[in-house]
Amino acid sequence: MCNTMQAAIVHSFGEKLSLEEIDRPTPEPNQVSIQIETAGLCHTDIHAVHGDWPAKPKMPLIPGHEGVGLVAETGKDVKEVKEGDRVALPWLAYACGACEHCVSGYETLCHQQENAGYSVDGSYAEYALGYGKYVTKVPDAVDPIDAAPLTCAGVTTYKAVKESKARPSELVVVFGIGGLGHLAIQYARIAGATVAAVDLVDKKLDLARELGANYTFNPKNDDVVEELQKMGGAHAAISTAVSPKAFEQAYQSLRRGGRLVFVGLPADNHIQLPIFETVLQGITIKGSIVGTRRDLEEVFQLHADGYTNVLRETRTLDTVNESFDDVLHSRMEQPRIVFDMRNN
Ligand code: NAD
Ligand code: ZN
Ligand code: ZN
Repeated sequence: MCNTMQAAIVHSFGEKLSLEEIDRPTPEPNQVSIQIETAGLCHTDIHAVHGDWPAKPKMPLIPGHEGVGLVAETGKDVKEVKEGDRVALPWLAYACGACEHCVSGYETLCHQQENAGYSVDGSYAEYALGYGKYVTKVPDAVDPIDAAPLTCAGVTTYKAVKESKARPSELVVVFGIGGLGHLAIQYARIAGATVAAVDLVDKKLDLARELGANYTFNPKNDDVVEELQKMGGAHAAISTAVSPKAFEQAYQSLRRGGRLVFVGLPADNHIQLPIFETVLQGITIKGSIVGTRRDLEEVFQLHADGYTNVLRETRTLDTVNESFDDVLHSRMEQPRIVFDMRNN
């Protein structure tokens, strides 16, 4: 048996990734080794490689936290999955399972968490390690190419829509119609909301309309805030855009009592918001980080039942550097790129 594998590795911040032949990782007793079939490219992977955020990833790093594949080997203590099961390897690679956050439905806030493709190696490789308790089974009815984007973009926006408390007939505005945003529109529609979509790229707004957005705005041509205020203001705004400006516009688009959910994580980490208006208008601001294992199961179920449409294009892992550039310049045909490792 061949004990090496191909992986895309970055050695220092801002450098290109290189495809290397390295040793296959072996699972600890509570881990599984996953033969990766598909790996989605989330904008977070680009932030990781660039070292954009206050908390830095390990280096060298194999990025990727939208991994889907077949369990190849299980550690001796793993009871949850068995060899041959198709599983998803999400951002929340591990949590302690015992702290106040873990036991109250917010395992994503665990202090001891590990993150795939950030604090531990991720899915841009032929094999990756996951923890038996923190991988999620992928139902047979979900195509592994769709399952990859659902593993982060899906679960993150599904959770963000839950956190927005969107209800039928409410107006929800989604800023940023990329990998995350194109799914946020669909979950907001499932919640019964009327949806407005905002992006700087007209092609993304065309897709938004196809996915059910009732209104679309491009801040390059439209005064988004004025347009939304003319409609009474949004009950909830979800910002997935990689730009602080969008967060400020999202805030200004709200009606009294409105809820703003922060999801995007631009390198430029600060915005300015007024205290007075926030108090007098009873505005809620909520940060939302990925979702739980249970949220991901629900996301897969909705997809298996035909409620969501994942817009993605497949590429091979050797295109990783040009694929990063294409995401940064919105040059893809579809909002999400998925590396199909079966074609390598
Ligand atoms: P993406 O590049 O696919 O999409 C971002 C979109 O924002 C693009 O369509 C872009 O045109 C648009 N945009 C940029 N500036 C804008 C502006 N001023 N107004 C409106 N739209 C604008 O990225 P993605 O993979 O969807 O990720 C989006 C962000 O969410 C990233 O910062 C990523 O790190 C973050 N993220 C957060 C979580 C979380 O748990 N909170 C999870 C995954 C990703
Ligand atoms: Zn992600
Ligand atoms: Zn914990």
